[in-house]
Amino acid sequence: MARSTPAIVILGQGSLATARRIQQLYPDALIHGLAERVEGADRPYQDFGATLRQLYQQDTPIIALCAAGIVIRTLAPLLLEKGAEPPVLAVAEDGSAVVPLLGGLGGVNVLAREIAAGLGVAAAITTSGELRFGTCLLNPPSGYALGDLELGKRFVSDLLGGESVRIEGAAPWLAEARLPEDQQARLSIHVGSAEREPAANELLIYPRCVLVACSSQGHEDLALQIRQALHQARIAVQSVACLLAADSDMACPSLREAALELGVPLRFAPAAESVSALAQNAVPQLLPPLAVGAGIAIAVANQPLDPEQIGRPRGRLAVIGLGPGAAELMVPAVKAELARANDILGYETYVRMAGPFRADQVMHCTDNREEMQRARHAFELAAQGRSVVVVSSGDPGVFAMAAAVLEALHESADPAWHNVELEMLPGVSASLATAAQAGAPLGHDFCVLSLSDNLKPWAIIEKRLDLACEADLALAFYNPISRSRPWQLGRALEIVREHRTPQTPVVLGRDIGRPGQTLRVITLGELTPEQVDMRTMVLVGSSMTCTFPKAGGGEWVYTPRWYKSS
Ligand code: SAH
Repeated sequence: MARSTPAIVILGQGSLATARRIQQLYPDALIHGLAERVEGADRPYQDFGATLRQLYQQDTPIIALCAAGIVIRTLAPLLLEKGAEPPVLAVAEDGSAVVPLLGGLGGVNVLAREIAAGLGVAAAITTSGELRFGTCLLNPPSGYALGDLELGKRFVSDLLGGESVRIEGAAPWLAEARLPEDQQARLSIHVGSAEREPAANELLIYPRCVLVACSSQGHEDLALQIRQALHQARIAVQSVACLLAADSDMACPSLREAALELGVPLRFAPAAESVSALAQNAVPQLLPPLAVGAGIAIAVANQPLDPEQIGRPRGRLAVIGLGPGAAELMVPAVKAELARANDILGYETYVRMAGPFRADQVMHCTDNREEMQRARHAFELAAQGRSVVVVSSGDPGVFAMAAAVLEALHESADPAWHNVELEMLPGVSASLATAAQAGAPLGHDFCVLSLSDNLKPWAIIEKRLDLACEADLALAFYNPISRSRPWQLGRALEIVREHRTPQTPVVLGRDIGRPGQTLRVITLGELTPEQVDMRTMVLVGSSMTCTFPKAGGGEWVYTPRWYKSS
C-alpha cells in the first residue's frame, strides 16, 4: 500500500523555492499557496485554517512551510476528535529545519527524514524509541499490523528502560533495527498470523497474509460470520489483507459493509465454482484455502499480500458539480472526490477549472456537445475498476452531465456498468450563485428554464415560458443566447412582456464566481438581447419582486416570502 501523496502548503512567496525542492521528492504533490500572497502555486487557497483542517480531515499528509506554532494552533481543534491523523510536518521557509509534529504512527518520521535528506539538513526527530532503535516499532511497514497500540507503548517504554528482547517469527524490517536482542529476554516481539491472547511482555505484530474469499449469499451479518470463521480457524482478524468476492457480487451492500467493518479493502475477481477456487485463482501462490462454512474461504500466504495485486476494486463514477467557479463555492465532498480520482472527464474549460491535477491523474477533455459519448467513456473506465469523475459547472443535475450519465446507464445492458458505484455530488448552480449576489430574487416560487432549443423544440420553450409567466413565477434563464441561437432570447422576452410590467427587476450575472464577474440589476423595459451572452444568467422577477438601494452603491433585489394575489 502506497502512502498517500502529501500536500505542500505555503503562506508566502518566499517559501516557493523550498516548496519546489520538496516537490521534486514527491512529484505528485501539489503546492497550495495563499492566493493573495503567492504567485505560481499549483493550487491557490483563500483561507489557511480551513485549507489545513480540510487536508487533515481528508487524511492527507501535510508539509507546511511555516512556523510550527501556526500549524499546531490551526489543527488544535481537530486533535481531540477521533479520526484521521495524517503525518504533519513544519518545514522552515528556507529549508533549514524539518520538524515532524503529528502522525507518529502514520510515518511522519520517515517523511521527515526523506525531506531532511533532500534539503541536506537533519530532521528534528523527538520520538525516543525511534531515536534509540532507528525504527518506530509501533508503526510497522505496510503489510504488517500492530496488535494493540496501548500495550505497544508500554512495551516500548520497557525496552527504553533497558530490557532486551527476543524476536519470534519472520519480520525482515526488524533485522535493520538496532534492538537489544537476547534469546533469554523476558520481552518478545511475536510476528505471526495466528490468533493470540495479548500479553504484557509481548508485542504482537500480524503479517497481513490472509485472504478471505466470500460470496454475498445468505449472510445476515457477513463481518460477524467472517470473524467467527477466522476464530474457528485460529487466525487473527488483524492478519486479513483483504476480502475477495466475485465480480457478479460487486454491487452487493453486505460485502461493502463487511469490508468497512473489518477495515480491509474489498477486491473482485471473475466468479469461480466455489469461494475456495475464487481465492486460488486470484492468488496462485496461496496455501490451499480452508473452506469454512458456506460461502467463506480463508487462505493464508507465507508472506504479506498486497491487496493492490489481487483482482481489482469496484470502480467508482462520480458526477460532480464545481459550482460557479470560485473555489470557496465548491462543496468539500467534491474537493475530496477530485483528490481521489484516477480519471477526470469533461468539457475542457471545466476540467481545467477543476484542476490542477497530479501527474498520476488522467484528464480526458472533450467537446461540450459530446455528452453521451463522454458518459459512455466514463462507464468504460469505471468498469475497469478506476475512480472516475465527470465534471459539470454549477450543479451536475441542472442542464448538465448527471442526466446524460444516467441515460447512458439506462440504455446499457452491461452488468459491469451497472455494478459501478455511481454517485452524483451537487454544486451551487449558476441561478443560485447569481441570486445570492443580487439578494434574494428567487426568494419565493420560481421556474428554471433553459432557452436552448438544441435538445427540445422551440414550441415547448414558448409554451412553458408563457405558462410560467402566467403563474407569476420568478424566472431563471440558463443558456439564454449563443451564436447559433441568436433570435430566441428576443422572442422569449416578447412573451415575458405580455405578462410583466417594464418595471419588473431583472438580474444579469455574467461569469459569476469567476475572474471578471459582473452583476447588473436593470428592469425588463431596459433589457435587450445584446446585454446577454452564453456566459450570462438571466433572472426575471415576479410581480412581487422589488429593489432598494444598497449602502455603498448598487441595489438589493428580493422577492418576499409572502404573496398577495392581484
Ligand atoms: N450545470 C450548470 C448549468 C449549465 S448550462 C449550473 O448548474 O450552473 C450553462 C449556462 O449556465 C450558461 O449558458 C449560463 O447561462 C449559466 N452559467 C453557468 N455558469 C455561470 C456563471 N458562472 N455565471 C453566470 N452564468 C452561468
